[in-house]
Amino acid sequence: MPITGRFAPSPTGRMHLGNVFGALLSWLSAKSQGGRWLLRIEDIDPQRSRRDYALQLMDDLAWLGLTWDGEPVWQSERSDLYEHYCNILQEKELTYPCYCTRADLLATQAPHESDGRVVYPGTCRPNKFRADTSGLRQGPSSTRLIVPDRNITFTDGHYGLQCINLARHVGDFIIRRKDGAWAYQLAVVVDDALTGVNEVVRGRDLLLSVPQQIYIAQLLNFTPPHYIHFPLLTGHDGQRLSKRDRSMDMGELRQHSSAAQIVGRLAFLAGIQPEPQPATPAELLKAFDWNSVPQHDIIV
Ligand code: GLU
Repeated sequence: MPITGRFAPSPTGRMHLGNVFGALLSWLSAKSQGGRWLLRIEDIDPQRSRRDYALQLMDDLAWLGLTWDGEPVWQSERSDLYEHYCNILQEKELTYPCYCTRADLLATQAPHESDGRVVYPGTCRPNKFRADTSGLRQGPSSTRLIVPDRNITFTDGHYGLQCINLARHVGDFIIRRKDGAWAYQLAVVVDDALTGVNEVVRGRDLLLSVPQQIYIAQLLNFTPPHYIHFPLLTGHDGQRLSKRDRSMDMGELRQHSSAAQIVGRLAFLAGIQPEPQPATPAELLKAFDWNSVPQHDIIV
């Protein structure tokens, strides 16, 4: 089966070294298998996404030598598709409107230490044994997807066997936000499936999204892609790099380094070459091997 990988950045700021690390690994993984590599602009959040950031990140990718196949897909142009698949889930009676605010949820539990996640306690979930209080609820609602209390098992290409119970680790989750914007989990599954993506390479912070995405894919009769997660780049404080670390953003980096220096340094951090010598992505294809990429996070 020919490999189709992708890079799916959210254009909410200038790319930083951690984003480029993801672009490089997903490109190398797909291209070293003779596959295609697609670019999808995840501009699904109208409040945070900007077109100029998207154009800038395309310029940065091209400058780095990370060329994509075909035309980029823009999530902001695909609302009708998300609506169509949301309706299918609705028809299966697996969704419900939720009126809870984050403050409501925080009143029931402390957010998870590692990632700030709160497991949805099912407050708005329809319950045939409870009096119908829907008339009492007011205001805008998000749409949640009901999850089963069962384990979802998958083998990550880098972190191995994973077994996650959606009810216990996530709870019913949002597929459409209160402001009408489509949620990442639904859009990503629909887009990966419709564009033929069969290999998803991304940071390990999204490992917990996999069971949610496999679950949606199963409900929509899509074959889930193969997932490969990679370690995060962190600062010396152990915090992952973010768009707030200006010294690691492409604007700064492009002023002081050549594309080959940036790519070579990332390849060294990924264990693909023994020294951080300059290299183009194409020059790394022969040496690329997931086995040399560490599992632990990498301090830059
Ligand atoms: N848009 C997401 C991000 O930038 C990535 C989603 C994915 O790779 O599945 O974090």
